[in-house]
Amino acid sequence: MEYKATIGLEVHAELKTLTKMFCNSKNDPEEKRPNVNICPVCMAHPGTLPVINKEAVKHVLKVGKAIGATIADFTEFDRKNYFYPDIPKGYQISQYKYPLVSGGLLKGVAITRVHLEEDTARSTHEKGDPASPETSQGGYSLVDFNRAGMPLMELVTEPVVKDAEQAVAFAKELQLLLRFLGASDANMEKGEMRVEANVSVSTTDTFGTKVEVKNLNSFRVVERAINYEIERQITVIEKGERVLQETRGWDEKKQATFSQRLKETSEDYRYFPDPDLPKLKISEIEEFQNMELPELPWEKRERYKKEYGIKDEDIESFIVDRELGAFFERVASALSGDKKAIALASNYITSDLVGLSPSAGGVRLPQIEDFVELMKMTGAGEISSRGAKDILKILVTEGGNSRAIAQQRGLFQKSDEGELAATVLRIISENEQVAADYRAGKEAALQYLVGQGMRATSGAANPAALKKIFEEKLKNL
Ligand code: ADP
Ligand code: MG
Repeated sequence: MEYKATIGLEVHAELKTLTKMFCNSKNDPEEKRPNVNICPVCMAHPGTLPVINKEAVKHVLKVGKAIGATIADFTEFDRKNYFYPDIPKGYQISQYKYPLVSGGLLKGVAITRVHLEEDTARSTHEKGDPASPETSQGGYSLVDFNRAGMPLMELVTEPVVKDAEQAVAFAKELQLLLRFLGASDANMEKGEMRVEANVSVSTTDTFGTKVEVKNLNSFRVVERAINYEIERQITVIEKGERVLQETRGWDEKKQATFSQRLKETSEDYRYFPDPDLPKLKISEIEEFQNMELPELPWEKRERYKKEYGIKDEDIESFIVDRELGAFFERVASALSGDKKAIALASNYITSDLVGLSPSAGGVRLPQIEDFVELMKMTGAGEISSRGAKDILKILVTEGGNSRAIAQQRGLFQKSDEGELAATVLRIISENEQVAADYRAGKEAALQYLVGQGMRATSGAANPAALKKIFEEKLKNL
């Protein structure tokens, strides 16, 4: 039997705002001290009222605009009721019937909706020793409410993703978009972006029962959990059993999904419009109408391709690391239009420069003008690629002028005819057959001779200059 997998993704992202979703408490994901960014509103004290955070709404609207979605004329906030120690109110304010954003497309994946809600608190469970709870350290849970009420965006896709690879590519593109928009830092390992995958398999065109896999906290885990779940469901069906609609988690130790609970349905949550919050009439609020979007990831890709014509994988490096991209753009503009030098620069930045930096803490960048000069020298064959790498290393560690460094270290390649002519003549006389082949039209023969010349000079010659001298001598001899 041919099994087809179907995947729909639900992605949460913590939004970057100064304050929380419905109050003035600080939204600071970096705060390590527990329960300092809290107030009566996010702690749900009686008599308090929520107020909608405009910046959070703007972030979601920008996402909607970027993916070509429909922006709602008006929106509503609903209460999603359930009890858990990490929701102080006994409900979460979310959006149910009238999300801010509907439709749209990202990386070829159809989007169902994007809405706003508030994050929950963070619980930590100190397990201790269940056998002797009286004496062991632990056996209790702690709740930190700093996160409670932080603005959270939820994006839901249609069930159109076909495999784990496509799911990861989509999640990576969404992460880039959120960063470009300044809407979220979206670091998965910090929980700023959290992915849930709904997975089903079927042998027909009718969807199978879906299983929701939660708490996928890295791209690698997203990929593994989806692949694991597809295989597991196929095994269940092959055994003649039925897949249960349930919520599963990912066990990193076992590299497997495990059942957490049978899936509740939306009726369980008793959604209803929050009476403390007004309908938000998006289309009547001027500020929401004329929002400027920055350059988006796919626009930048397109521009880099058109303007610089560099390799796709280099472009991707510049999109992912925007500081590196900005450096490249300044270098490219200084090399104005010199396509060859620009390609060279792109290469040196994405492979050599990145390789010279410590693994954490970003790339160490040289001074623009020194790097540009280095690229010009390398492009013109004044120094070898080996020499260029040596100079680059000095530029990022000590700094300095590229020409001066090349001079000091004797890295300039010989290109003077007077210096090279004797070597060229000797090599021609030692390789008469090759020289004859070249004269008979065999281009590769010239390459061979130049190679001999490079060897004879221990790599100190400028290969372009050497080639020219060979051509001349071969013609005139
Ligand atoms: P629920 O009400 O259970 O949350 P939704 O219809 O809201 O279900 O869908 C939640 C997510 O599950 C969406 O991303 C959707 O694309 C996805 N989904 C729905 N049906 C399936 C299915 N049969 N297989 C895989 N994913 C599905
Ligand atoms: Mg859902």
